[in-house]
Amino acid sequence: MNNLSYNKSLLSSLPAVHKIQKLPEVQEMISNLGNSLVLSKIREVQKDLREALTSENEINKIDIDIFLSNLRAKISEIDNDLLRPVFNLTGTVIHTNFGRSILPSKTLQDVKEIAESPSNLEYDVLKTTRGNRDNHISGMLCDITGAEACTIVNNNAAAVILVLNSLAKRKEVLVSRGELIEIGGSFRLPEIMTSANCKLKEVGTTNRTHIEDFESEIKKQTGLILKAHTSNFVIKGFTSNINHKDLAKLSKRHGLPFMVDLGSGSLIDLKLLGLPKESMPKEVLSNGADIITFSGDKLVGGPQCGIILGRKDLIDKINKNPLKRALRCDKMTIAAFASILKLYNDTETAIKEIPTLRMLNRKKKEIYDTAKRVFKDINNQLKTIANVEIVDCKSQIGSGSLPVELIPSCAIKISTNSNKYLSKLYTEFRKLPIPVIGRIHDNSILFDLRCLEDESQFLSQLKKLNLKLLKSK
Ligand SMILES: *Cc1c(COP(=O)(O)O)cnc(C)c1O
Repeated sequence: MNNLSYNKSLLSSLPAVHKIQKLPEVQEMISNLGNSLVLSKIREVQKDLREALTSENEINKIDIDIFLSNLRAKISEIDNDLLRPVFNLTGTVIHTNFGRSILPSKTLQDVKEIAESPSNLEYDVLKTTRGNRDNHISGMLCDITGAEACTIVNNNAAAVILVLNSLAKRKEVLVSRGELIEIGGSFRLPEIMTSANCKLKEVGTTNRTHIEDFESEIKKQTGLILKAHTSNFVIKGFTSNINHKDLAKLSKRHGLPFMVDLGSGSLIDLKLLGLPKESMPKEVLSNGADIITFSGDKLVGGPQCGIILGRKDLIDKINKNPLKRALRCDKMTIAAFASILKLYNDTETAIKEIPTLRMLNRKKKEIYDTAKRVFKDINNQLKTIANVEIVDCKSQIGSGSLPVELIPSCAIKISTNSNKYLSKLYTEFRKLPIPVIGRIHDNSILFDLRCLEDESQFLSQLKKLNLKLLKSK
């Protein structure tokens, strides 16, 4: 046979699309992902294989098995990209990569009710007039924080931009050099200023800023004084920072709004969770801040949103900014946030029902008990290939709340003879239907159990671990 006819006969061995579609495994892929997506992947595989056949050197035979294994690889790439649950056993409770706070099931019911039916989102049912979507949360939020007025937007970054643009457009905003923060790469204060069409005016030095430094920078082009929570770092040693009260007094004297970006803003006293104190929105307002902003999905434990609280005249101005329309929250977020706020009527209920607070509040003894319960199954699965033990560890709050604070916790520690081997084993945990994410520390895998609540679901998928490629230890 010459090359051409050889290839022709090989090409004719490519399975037909309709035959592939009929295979039970492919039928299952179709029922999960839909016909058109799977069909396009089948065609991609066909194209790849046809190219491989005609490129001389590569494969010399195609059958259904080869076709299927190529298709499986393409489908698992899609699966990997689909949004789905994971087990966050990293020990970082509020983790941006894992969606930050999770919601109580009661809140999900409340969201469902609003999402599947028309609602009074922007309608006053009794007056039959247009209503305001913020009304569903502002009563409760002002009650909890003592604020005169409030509004919410898509996230805290949006809140900061909106406030700056509404109150200090084309003007200078004074910020201490020690607070020029970057959070998670995409939120950098200097760039946020530019987006808001404000001019950043740095005041003082990195480690020390005094009230006189601010005073001497106030000019006619000054529009606002901003204090930002230095969320993810601390400045130690010879430092000096100005408290809220002094900055508030200075601002008032010069008729400038004083804004505080709290970042995480907690609605309960963190001491109740055994954590060091952080200023709560209520205190910051009573210390004289005119406007404060914080995230809804950090220590508040709610859905992603940005909360803006403060003086009514300023909130009115913010609401009139056309940007507000672009940054407003959707009805599901408002329903979720309202549902969360209700839980704050009673602090004990909030700590028990709001998962972020509940997980931060878990004591080491309780986590150790969880560790003992799951240890047996994990060890049974892995004992021939790895060493499994229960160890003490430290969890973090995450998302820049109390950056250096570490909370005593317990972990399952898995170690093997070689790092390569360890990394393969860790990959298998991440290939489970609900991927298990921990951290690698000291040549071991650590699964911090602070955030493990559904133990039975965690254990039930362990038998699906693919350990065939891993030899015994
Ligand atoms: C987290 C954080 C932000 C950004 O908030 P998002 O809700 O993620 O947009 C802004 N400022 C501070 C101080 C923060 O900690």
